[in-house]
Amino acid sequence: MAKKLRIDEDECIGCESCVELCPAAFQMSADGDKAIVVDENCTDDCVEESIDTCPVTCIFFEE
Ligand code: SF4
Repeated sequence: MAKKLRIDEDECIGCESCVELCPAAFQMSADGDKAIVVDENCTDDCVEESIDTCPVTCIFFEE
């Protein structure tokens, strides 16, 4: 089964880096405090870039 893209929302500091890098996969939550995954199956290269640049390394793939 394909891995699912996830954000650990307890760790996210809402820096918006992933949203800027990869809006196809990430958006800010309604209250703007955290990023949320909007396409858990996104395979764009910018997903890996977002994982690598998240300052608190809270973006990951779940088996
Ligand atoms: S890059 Fe990381 S800390 Fe910043 S908004 Fe995205 S998930 Fe949250």
